[in-house]
Amino acid sequence: MTSPTHCTFSVLLCAVIFSLTSVAFVSDKPAIGFALLGSLFPDLDTPKSAIGRILFFISTPLEKKFGHRGLLHSFLGLLIFAGIASPLLLVKPLYYYSFLLGYFSHILLDCVNVSGVALFHPLPNICVFPYSDNYRIKTGSLKGEGILLIVLIILLALYMPVSNLGLFRAVRYLTASQQGAYTDYNNINNQASILDYTAISTYSRKKIKDKSLIISANRYHFLVWEDGEILKLGNDDRCDYVLKKCRTKAIDQEIDIRKINCTAKAFSDLIDLEKDFIILKGELQGSCDFILNSPGSSVKKNHRTLSFEFCPKSDFTSIEIEKNATGSEELQDQFFLADLEYNNLLNRKKKYITAKSKLDSILAARKQILDHASSPYSIEISRQTEEIKNLRSTLNSIKINDAYHIQLKKKEFELEKIRTKLKGYNKKLHFSGYLKIRIL
Ligand SMILES: [Zn+2]
Repeated sequence: MTSPTHCTFSVLLCAVIFSLTSVAFVSDKPAIGFALLGSLFPDLDTPKSAIGRILFFISTPLEKKFGHRGLLHSFLGLLIFAGIASPLLLVKPLYYYSFLLGYFSHILLDCVNVSGVALFHPLPNICVFPYSDNYRIKTGSLKGEGILLIVLIILLALYMPVSNLGLFRAVRYLTASQQGAYTDYNNINNQASILDYTAISTYSRKKIKDKSLIISANRYHFLVWEDGEILKLGNDDRCDYVLKKCRTKAIDQEIDIRKINCTAKAFSDLIDLEKDFIILKGELQGSCDFILNSPGSSVKKNHRTLSFEFCPKSDFTSIEIEKNATGSEELQDQFFLADLEYNNLLNRKKKYITAKSKLDSILAARKQILDHASSPYSIEISRQTEEIKNLRSTLNSIKINDAYHIQLKKKEFELEKIRTKLKGYNKKLHFSGYLKIRIL
């Protein structure tokens, strides 16, 4: 085969093999260069080839000694070049493997040649594919190699987008399943990621399509931050939204999750420690007992251990230390602080607040209360229902241009009205909080 065919095939083979391991090959230009280089080297055994013409002082004696498609077109030749190129490993292993794979692609493709290849040189056996002479290709023939080259170019063009994502990721992208999105989420390290989803509201049964920042995820659900509140998305009715299709995408920002050592710090110090934090995740162990003034799902108490599951600051500050506690106020363990500067993200992305989604979340809160029917919350159900009615009339009285949409900046006043209405009523509605994502 001629150099263009070998070059095309080498890139195609590398793209396929590396995409199986999710290694970014196609976007790495030097790696492509080494694959191309590797695909040229086996023909160093003839001065008629492109590389043989340049390095004629090597190719001429090589052809005399071993013949064309002899030593250099065999596994032994591959092994020799694996040794010669090994310093590349120190530069970047991907370059080394691209070179070898490029080299191997050449030998493989030459098996399709009429004369075949002595793959196991110095054994004389000639390897061919396909077996019948009629189906193999004559080097440089327009009908044979010309068509093969066009087919390879088309295959390469088709495979490029898949290779960019990695084969398995490409499959996950196409299926858009929750499990796939979770796998992708786990593969993204230290980078903020967005869930691009289509889902059905558990309460209104309305279909929505949106992109939201992922706060956390497990196999069963995603917690996302949307329009100032935390939504739970999953595959059952216990979630705010039932996911139909979803994909995870990394965004440019890195999430700064700081681990703070709380040893020998008083509880009161801790509240002031990070003034700007909004969401807490982690565990705190105290040497004394705590009182939870408003037990909710974001803070849980087990003896002297408090665990926070995306706890807003308002919930955190309402925790009290047991007055009759013996021992000091020292906190002995560590907790994680997810400091996510969401404001910066807001500025970049044109954001709309959907009044409808506020109603949804109130209904969600109500459902939460109903779920805890035996707790003191049950007394407040009727008042809560009343509040929903009030809010509905508040929303109706606000003049909104577009059915339910209020543009964040222009309509801040109206939003504030809604916030005030809800503030202090149910702390699980995070209307006044801001999740912050640190832009590095
Ligand atoms: Zn060759």
